[in-house]
Amino acid sequence: MNAAELSSLIRDIPDFPKPGVGFKDITPVLAHPTALGSIIDLLAEPYAEAGITVVAGIEARGFVLATPVARALNAGFIPLRKPGKLPYETVSESYELEYGIDSLEAHIDAAGQGDRVLIVDDVIATGGTAAAAVSLLGQLGATVVGLAVFIELAFLDGRSALAEGTALHAVLTYD
Ligand code: AMP
Repeated sequence: MNAAELSSLIRDIPDFPKPGVGFKDITPVLAHPTALGSIIDLLAEPYAEAGITVVAGIEARGFVLATPVARALNAGFIPLRKPGKLPYETVSESYELEYGIDSLEAHIDAAGQGDRVLIVDDVIATGGTAAAAVSLLGQLGATVVGLAVFIELAFLDGRSALAEGTALHAVLTYD
């Protein structure tokens, strides 16, 4: 299935979870027997020769995509989670939301020097979450090779929130 066909399966939900947000509901894409495999192939393809050792998924929809991408790249999977969810010692990175602040955590031994990490999420909007994920992996001493997302909401300019040199690969881009 190509990108245009995948796009037709995404459900737009206006004003969710709050007024003014156009939510991209990817559950119909995940539920489709061939679409799911196509997303994973399209996410992983550019990194086939990149020597990725670990794929980091951002809670929660990022987990669903990151694990099969890790398998496709013969890499491991690590979760980047909301605060208080991980059982072992963690490192943490805070980021600003429209209203307030949130953070992401990783286990201190999830990745380290020598690891080449690909970060995966479903959507990049303002880029705050992705930027925090990059910083978190930096705290662990790992090299972030790139960030792969299914959907980029380019009109929110998430790319500019990422540090210079962090390569972004989006399967679908909405201008
Ligand atoms: P941001 O930090 O603004 O780039 O937001 C990215 C995170 O929020 C991702 O983990 C997405 O799952 C979620 N997200 C933000 N905006 C949307 C949207 N319009 N549709 C679906 N998910 C979104």
